[in-house]
Amino acid sequence: MSDVDFDIAIIGGGPAGSTMASYLSQAGLSCGVFESAIFPREHVGESLIPATTPVLSDIGALPKIEAAGFPRKYGAAWTSAIDSKIPTLGFEVSHGFGTAEIDFSERDQAGVNQDYTYHVDRGLYDLILLQHAESLGAKVYEGIRVRRVDFSEPEPKLVFSMGRRETDIRARMVIDASGRNTFLGRQLKLKVSDPVFNQYAVHTWFDGLDRGALSVSKEQSDYIFVHFLPITDTWVWQIPITDTVTSIGVVTQKKHFSESGSDWETFFWRCVESRPELAEALRASKQVRPFKPEGDYSYAMREICGDGWLMIGDAARFVDPIFSSGVSVAMNSARIASYDILAAAERGDFTKPSFANYEGKLRNAVSNWYEFISIYYRLNILFTAFVADPRYRLDVLKMLQGDVYDGGEPVALTKMREITRQVEENPDHLWHKHLGTLRAPSAAPQF
Ligand SMILES: Cc1cc2nc3c(=O)[nH]c(=O)nc-3n(C[C@H](O)[C@H](O)[C@H](O)COP(=O)(O)OP(=O)(O)OC[C@H]3O[C@@H](n4cnc5c(N)ncnc54)[C@H](O)[C@@H]3O)c2cc1C
Repeated sequence: MSDVDFDIAIIGGGPAGSTMASYLSQAGLSCGVFESAIFPREHVGESLIPATTPVLSDIGALPKIEAAGFPRKYGAAWTSAIDSKIPTLGFEVSHGFGTAEIDFSERDQAGVNQDYTYHVDRGLYDLILLQHAESLGAKVYEGIRVRRVDFSEPEPKLVFSMGRRETDIRARMVIDASGRNTFLGRQLKLKVSDPVFNQYAVHTWFDGLDRGALSVSKEQSDYIFVHFLPITDTWVWQIPITDTVTSIGVVTQKKHFSESGSDWETFFWRCVESRPELAEALRASKQVRPFKPEGDYSYAMREICGDGWLMIGDAARFVDPIFSSGVSVAMNSARIASYDILAAAERGDFTKPSFANYEGKLRNAVSNWYEFISIYYRLNILFTAFVADPRYRLDVLKMLQGDVYDGGEPVALTKMREITRQVEENPDHLWHKHLGTLRAPSAAPQF
């Protein structure tokens, strides 16, 4: 290497950045990962889906993740608020929609040889992946915040501060894996906020929660649970973190939180009390982390790659986390982009057309996710109906497994869109009254 410090410079050492560094280092490119935090650091997004498994296998990290002893996740379950008391929170009330559950073992998935994935403490999970990238040859620099990228010359220059000093490095190409900080999206003014989903989450960890309190069967108590609340567009996640610690988060529309005029803690408890059996189980356990909010998290980018740069993971796009897709998208976007980057390095051409394959695949996969999520919010009852319907169950499971990168639109999605339109157009339809207030994807942003 002559005039550059690295072949590839990566901003951010979360799952997207460390996966990219692993793929490229494995293939012999020199990578520098610049991470502003010192790992381990806490992070939201703790429940994985099976599409992470082939990536973990590819980069050789699966044995390390298995050895860490994270709780195994065999499936997912949704519980309803049908019989719950309606709270007086001052905003619109929705109806409950029945319960559903699904096992990953019901459908084979290419590259996945186990019938489970994991729930993870992201502090530890992300640390393992970053150290793994380092073990494959990537140079990892923690505590380094990238300030800007200078694109004035063919090889981009990363500028960062070290203490009071400003310094820089040059690379043949820069990857933005900075997560919801969306470093390049902001610098290049490419970020578009989602006009439909303006969700807000408040979350914490509890020790000693009876995870089976709302489950149909005790065997499912280590699934991820999504508990619908009888409050429009509002739900709770329940994710095992260790044998005894459980992550609980309330997700709602941001306006619900601002209109409530309460602090995070009061808001959290007022929401969960709309499911008294959930509130009771939580009160019987011990809160072991402070409440933490997450907001403003749905957006797209007008472009996700250009001459000498590319975005992966949350830096490229973020869709609502209802189906736990984030880490899987982060790792798979790194996987798919790494193929284009390796080919570009071979040719010595890092201009935008080199990344067309990545752009097409990611756009396709994320728009499937986006539409699935949109329909879920718009006509929730359809989701439970489709999970229960043998004609569509496996197709829905395909999406829930994160198997969305190859092939066309899932049949279930096409059918769901059709039914949603019929219900919207017919005020006398039995399900019309169940329509949610979020109207997508007609207003959905594109890359
Ligand atoms: C409420 C909520 C619930 C979620 N639940 C789930 C879930 O259950 N399952 C799931 O899979 N996903 C979930 N997600 C999504 C998940 O958190 C993300 O998709 C995932 O963390 C993306 O990984 P990433 O590597 O792209 O970004 P991150 O994990 O955010 O990593 C980005 C890294 O970049 C670093 N960085 C940022 N800026 C700079 C800079 N300027 N210089 C240097 N370093 C920088 C940060 O410190 C960070 O470590 C959830 C998200 C939200 C908001």
